[in-house]
This record gives sequence, structure tokens and C-alpha cells, in this order.
Amino acid sequence: MSRKYTLAVLPGDGIGPEVMAEALKVLDAVAARSGIEFTYNHQLVGGAAIDAVGKALPAETVAACEASDAILFGSVGGPKWEKLPPNEQPERGALLPLRKHFGLFANLRPGICYPALTSSSPIRPDLVEGGFDVLCVRELTGGMYFGQPKSRTTLPDGDIEVIDTMVYKKSEIVRIAHVAFKAAQLRRKHVTSVDKANVLTNSVLWRETMVEVAKEYPDVTLAHLYVDNAAMQLIKAPRSFDVLVTENLFGDILSDEMAMIAGSLGMLASASLGKPKGDGLYFGLFEPSGGTAPDIAGMGIANPIAQILSSALLLRFALGLEKEAASIESAVKKVIDDGLRTGDIFSGAPGTRKVNTKEIGEAVIAAL
Ligand code: NAD
Repeated sequence: MSRKYTLAVLPGDGIGPEVMAEALKVLDAVAARSGIEFTYNHQLVGGAAIDAVGKALPAETVAACEASDAILFGSVGGPKWEKLPPNEQPERGALLPLRKHFGLFANLRPGICYPALTSSSPIRPDLVEGGFDVLCVRELTGGMYFGQPKSRTTLPDGDIEVIDTMVYKKSEIVRIAHVAFKAAQLRRKHVTSVDKANVLTNSVLWRETMVEVAKEYPDVTLAHLYVDNAAMQLIKAPRSFDVLVTENLFGDILSDEMAMIAGSLGMLASASLGKPKGDGLYFGLFEPSGGTAPDIAGMGIANPIAQILSSALLLRFALGLEKEAASIESAVKKVIDDGLRTGDIFSGAPGTRKVNTKEIGEAVIAAL
């Protein structure tokens, strides 16, 4: 049976178009092997859209995303547009409105430290020996960043009082819990829920809800960590995690800690998931964790692996093509094991070779 999908392709700025080209070639190679048909709807976004039509997120781009099965995003921004008013700049003018428009409530960041790249991790070699693979699932639209009231008041005695409010509805916790448990079912079947239930009422409900939802996933084990302990365990025992799920503020901090200990920004993919489509699938936006790398843009030397792995996440979470997603991930691992390195991960170690963006794309396709 032929399976047909439409993807909105938004390469953006800087290295975006260079790494996107390799991701699409890999998707085409996967499609050719599996009887799948992808139609790419290429659209402008970010600085490229500002230059062409005066707006970081043109209406046609949003319409194309709405008409697609998923969004494959590059990255946006660069020095050329930094003097624009903040809300018109590429990131704030495009990425944030896209997240809002599509209600992208779950941010997934796999923190993979490949066995052959453990020397890139800043933590002690014996702690990362053999590599690690943690999936951080962060709730993205609730909690303290959005809760009301939020205020700053000068009091009658001249002191200043500030208020941020952490708010969660049980329904918001339930839906992120399902994302985490479903993701764990495709992995090593263990969820670590991170909270501060010894102090915060929010976290008490978070923990109760995780326990409740876990009953629907008897094949997945659930553990709880307080956030302070989780920050320590990530550094001390990263291999002890499979899926880590947490609320917005904690996730903001822990996902960056995890990215840092994994070692290389050009390797890290991410997924932002929105409306469930049924069958455990979600509409979503899939993008590298890094930015537009203006220092190397146009040189053909950027690492396309984060973009290629983002397309694998798209296949898994938006289209349910688990076998095809896993084939891309295994191919990337083989390319790394074979010693191919772009400049950002090249250390000159014996058995490794420095290559460019296109060579990585070709090697991944050859390894599929
Ligand atoms: P950056 O991630 O673009 O670059 C940081 C460093 O990492 C640079 O030295 C860069 O060369 C390197 N790097 C990043 N990705 C790489 C890759 N794939 N291959 C090889 N090296 C890579 O971060 P920055 O310099 O802080 O930001 C540059 C621009 O990107 C800014 O305009 C920023 O606003 C934007 N940005 C966009 C997004 C997004 O679209 N989601 C995210 C972060 C930053």
C-alpha cells in the first residue's frame, strides 16, 4: 500500500537550507525503500521571509503548515535581522507564533551521547562510557511562564514585590504524561517523572497524575525524582534515565543540562508536539536544537545530523513510521562509528576523518 504524506518544509536562515537539503535527501532515500511518498511544501520563514515579503511568518507559510501532516523546520535568525523590533525578529516573529498557533505543548529532546563521541561530553569519561540516550519530555505551554497573576508592584513602603504564578490543570498533566509513556513504549520502557512534590502543590498533583496515567501503561515502569536530585543524577548517572518527563520551568533547565552533557549541539534534534491525531500520533514541528550558526553558514561544513535526526522524530511521532525512523537513527550511528565527522565534532582522534555537510548526508543514505 502506498502511503502519502505532505510535509511543510521551512529551512529558514543560515545553515538551515544546507542541513535541510541533506535531511530531505535522507527522507527521499527512506521513501524509495519503503513505498512511501513525501510531498514537500517549501515555505519561507524567519529572516528569509522578512527579506522576501517583509514578515517572519507569512500567512502562506502558516496555511501550508495547516495543510501538512507535519512541519520540518530548520532554524531562523542571524545578525542581519537583530536590529529589528524584538517582535519582528525571526525567532520571536516566527517560531513563537508557530508554537502558539499549533498549540505545541510537548517538547521532546533526545540527549544522545554516542559511544564513539563520549570524549565530547564534559563529564567524567567513566560516567559516560558506552554513551547514553535520554529523552527529555518537557511540558511547554503551562506552569510559571504563563500563569496569572504575574506582576511587579512598588509597595507603599517603597519595597518592590514581584509575582509569578505556577498554574497547571490536571488535563495538561494528563496529556504530557501520555506523550512520555507512549514515547517510553518505543524505547526502554522507563519513565522518570521530575517534580518538587515535597514543596509545591503543583508537583503533588503532577505526581498523583503521573501515577494515575502510569496504570494505563503496565509495560512501562515509573520512578519519581525531586528536581534538585534529578539535576545531580543527570550528571552522575545519565545512563540511569530513559524518558525524563517534567513541567515547563524544570524542563527548560534540565533539557539544557542534558544537551550540554551529551556533548555536541549539531547532533541534537527536537520535536514540539501539538494536537493528538489519534493512534498515539501528534501534529508537530521538528527542528534541530541549535541555531543558524552564522559563523559557518554558506560554507557547506555544518553538521546536518541534528536536522536528519529531526526528520526521524517526525516519522516516529507525526507519522507513526517507527521502523523508518529507527533506520535513520541506526544509519547516523553507523556513520559516527565509521569515524566521519564534521568540524564541530572532529577532534583528530585516530580512525576519524573530517568531512563536509554533503558527505555526511551521502554517508547516512549509504548506511540506511
Ligand atoms: P548557534 O546554535 O547557531 O551556534 C552556536 C555554535 O554552535 C556556533 O559556533 C555554531 O557554528 C555551532 N553550531 C550550531 N549548529 C551547528 C551545526 N549544525 N553544525 C556545526 N556547528 C554548529 O547559536 P547562536 O550563535 O547563539 O545563534 C545564532 C543565530 O541562531 C541567532 O540569530 C539565534 O537567534 C538563532 N537561533 C535560532 C534558533 C531556532 O531557530 N530554533 C535556536 C537558537 C538560536
